[in-house]
Amino acid sequence: MNELSKGAKVTLSNGSFVTIKKELGRGGQGIVYLVDYNGKDMALKWYLNAPDSCLYNNLNNNILNGAPSDAFLWPKALAERQQGSFGYLMDLRPGNYFEFGNFLMAKVKFASFDAMLNAAMKICNGFMMLHRFGYSYQDLNDGNFFIDPKTGDVLICDNDNVMPQGEKSGIMGKARYMAPEVVAGGIPDKYSDRYSLSVILFMLFYVNHPLEGAKVVACPCMTETYEKKFYGSEAVFIYNPNDKSNLPVRGIHQNVIRRWPALPAILRNTFTREFSEEMLRNPQKRMLEQNWEKLIATLRDSLVICPHCKGETFIEEGKSMCMNCGKDVEVPLSLKIGNRNVFLTGGTKLYIDHDNNADVLVLKDAKAGLLLLKNLSSDTTWTAETPSGKLKTVAPGECVPVKEGIKVSFNQTTKGEIISR
Ligand SMILES: [Zn+2]
Repeated sequence: MNELSKGAKVTLSNGSFVTIKKELGRGGQGIVYLVDYNGKDMALKWYLNAPDSCLYNNLNNNILNGAPSDAFLWPKALAERQQGSFGYLMDLRPGNYFEFGNFLMAKVKFASFDAMLNAAMKICNGFMMLHRFGYSYQDLNDGNFFIDPKTGDVLICDNDNVMPQGEKSGIMGKARYMAPEVVAGGIPDKYSDRYSLSVILFMLFYVNHPLEGAKVVACPCMTETYEKKFYGSEAVFIYNPNDKSNLPVRGIHQNVIRRWPALPAILRNTFTREFSEEMLRNPQKRMLEQNWEKLIATLRDSLVICPHCKGETFIEEGKSMCMNCGKDVEVPLSLKIGNRNVFLTGGTKLYIDHDNNADVLVLKDAKAGLLLLKNLSSDTTWTAETPSGKLKTVAPGECVPVKEGIKVSFNQTTKGEIISR
């Protein structure tokens, strides 16, 4: 064993050192210690059995290249080989982030759909950036994600298995999250990452695995042979319209049974396609991260605050009943941005771009009996144009009335118009 004791000094490849304060947790691969680094608390992952030099060199490269986005709790410095092993230094995970597994067991719940969509957006963006950097994640699963249930912010951990495309870390990933072609023995790559991403997103929205229905429940004991069937050669999506053999089971899969019809059709249609036989068998046809981002933006555009109960609900064409109070949510005006249709009700936050900072707050001016769009940005001034062509600047903190025909330029590239529905 290569455990480190309290007070031990571990030298880093950057010439500095850390001092072990205490153990934070351990897994199959190694131990995570709380360490002092120049007076700052950080985390040190220490391998129990030193992996080969390939992983050492890979880690070193990843540290030099830096994190693809702030979604990653990325290795910051390498702890050199000493006492028979090595490790790496990273930032501590703040206490308000919980393991995704806790959300799946309903121990932790999102404060809002807004937070849930933020989490989905951050995960998609993280994977898009990761692939843009030429990496593949390889070992994506519910133990790697930590989410703040209030804001939906995400930290992706265990990035030591992140490898350049086409290289094999030797880590095959958890069966439930592996793409069918990897379960069958293939090498993980960005295409298999995309499958794992759609599994994670499905679980985030519906709190159920997309392939775990009646077939898995009927399985007497989950052996490797069965795993290879259910997640590989005989994978069947629980809501496959052409094969009802793996439907969710009442009393066991309540979350997905309740949420599948409740969440917007566009989400159901996307997952039905992504988990169809064709997509399961054709990795290169799977949806790109940026298209997932567009889908999540569309969901955001349709998420409104109900004027009756002040709860959140999704509005769709032909479906405007509030998910909470059952009353009809009237949305007389919406904001048209290109082919987007953003619904406007008092209290609703709008996201113009794909980051997780709301850009607009829809306010209700009770006196004037109309809605206002408040500029939430800290540094971007909008330009509003009345139907008669008058221009007005809208500085941060200022508002534009929601009236049919008013056009707003939110930035250089994004222009919207208020239209009646
Ligand atoms: Zn309501």
